[in-house]
Amino acid sequence: MRRSSRARRWRLEVPWGAPARLTVPRSATREDVERVLADRRSWIEMQRRRQVPRLGLDRLAVSESEGRTRALEVVSTLAEREAERLGVAYGRIRIGGQRTLWGSCSPRGTLSFNWRLVLAPLEVVDYVVVHELCHLLVPNHSQSFWSLVEQRRPRWRGQRAWLHEYGPELLAFRPVDGEQAEPPS
Ligand SMILES: [Zn+2]
Repeated sequence: MRRSSRARRWRLEVPWGAPARLTVPRSATREDVERVLADRRSWIEMQRRRQVPRLGLDRLAVSESEGRTRALEVVSTLAEREAERLGVAYGRIRIGGQRTLWGSCSPRGTLSFNWRLVLAPLEVVDYVVVHELCHLLVPNHSQSFWSLVEQRRPRWRGQRAWLHEYGPELLAFRPVDGEQAEPPS
C-alpha cells in the first residue's frame, strides 16, 4: 500500500509475479483502505487466476538487447511500408521498455514502441504500428481515428483483444540478461 499526494482516487494493480499494489490518496483512512481491499478481494483473486503462462515465453532465451534490436527491425519495416500507404512521415522510431505502454506517438512524430512486442504475433505488432501511424493524422482516439484504423486494418479489434488478453504476460517476460534500467526520457 502506498499513499500518494498526487493520487486523486485509489488504484489497485495486480502485476504478474509481484504482490498487489494499492495506491491511495493521502486523505484515505485506514477504514477506506480496508474497505477497498475487502471489496476487491475476489477481483484480485480473479486476476491471479488469469496469470497463468500460456505463451510458452519461459522457453525463449531472449536477451533484452536482442529483443530491442529485433523489435526495431520489425517495427521499422512495418512502419516504413504503412507510412507510405497512409501518406504520413514520422520522425524517428524509439524502442522502449515501458511497463504499461505498447506504443506512443509524440507531437513531433517520434514513434515509440515497447520491445516486448517482438514476443507477440506479427499481426499484433502490425496493429500497434498502424495505430501509432494513424495518430499522425488523428492525434486522439475519436471516432474518426478508429474509422481510419478500421479502414487500414479491418481486423484490428482481434489484435487489440489479443493484447488485452496476453499483454500482461508479455510485460512480465524477463529477458535472460535481466532488467535494464531505462534512461529517463
Ligand atoms: Zn492510441
